[in-house]
Amino acid sequence: MENTKELRTWLDAFGLGHPLVIAGPCSAETEEQVLQIAHELKDTDATVLRAGIWKPRTRPGNFEGVGALGLKWLQKAKQETGMLIATEVANKDHVKLALEHDVDILWIGARTTVSPFIVQEIADALEGTDKIVLVKNPVNPDLPLWLGAIERLYSKNIKKLGVIHRGFSTYEKTRYRNNPEWQIPIELQNRFPDLPLICDPSHIAGRRDIIFDICQTALDLNFDGLMVETHYDPDNAWSDAAQQITPKTLVQMMVDLKVRKATD
Ligand code: PEP
Ligand code: MN
Repeated sequence: MENTKELRTWLDAFGLGHPLVIAGPCSAETEEQVLQIAHELKDTDATVLRAGIWKPRTRPGNFEGVGALGLKWLQKAKQETGMLIATEVANKDHVKLALEHDVDILWIGARTTVSPFIVQEIADALEGTDKIVLVKNPVNPDLPLWLGAIERLYSKNIKKLGVIHRGFSTYEKTRYRNNPEWQIPIELQNRFPDLPLICDPSHIAGRRDIIFDICQTALDLNFDGLMVETHYDPDNAWSDAAQQITPKTLVQMMVDLKVRKATD
């Protein structure tokens, strides 16, 4: 991986803002929900709307997403607001559908990054794409597994690559849902200095009261972006209710966060 320079340039080229802010609900629930949240986010620092439509859940019996239907809602949100749209892909069929519906950013979730065959299948389906592809860390604190997923994508000539740090599962009781173990993304950044690094405070926290602090730590560590789960009615969200914040709270948070300038 001798030349990672080109990986970083997509972030600047898109003019998506510094830090890049991706916001939106954990899950797309209804067309009205997606459109309302998109409109509430439209004139904020968030330039990308996220919403999961295929939701790999750890245990069965929870909401597993609306499926391909949600792609139409995302497309409509993009048309109405001009925001870019992002969703999680967990197999090659998802990739095909997302590309057909012109999804701008496809991300690989933590439960998928752990599976080399599936990552390979996704990488094959994405070969040569000019879409942005973001790779979440694997659920467990295993840097080689994360690096391996990046290498599989990179070797398929996917140039607009980035990574998302969403914390690591632990059996110990901590204040976090997923332990940040900041040294792991930092080591990854040392190996790939030009790979944009985005923090997902929502899945690290698991609760909304510590989202701000996690975002500030990420920005202090020079992360390039934030992906924040955002819902107009967090308590009644169909997934990850405890960790979502409202668009209004996001706006205030972006005012209060101290962002380092490139020259600092
Ligand atoms: C999500 O982004 O809603 C999600 C399921 O995240 P993760 O893959 O990090 O658990
Ligand atoms: Mn979620």
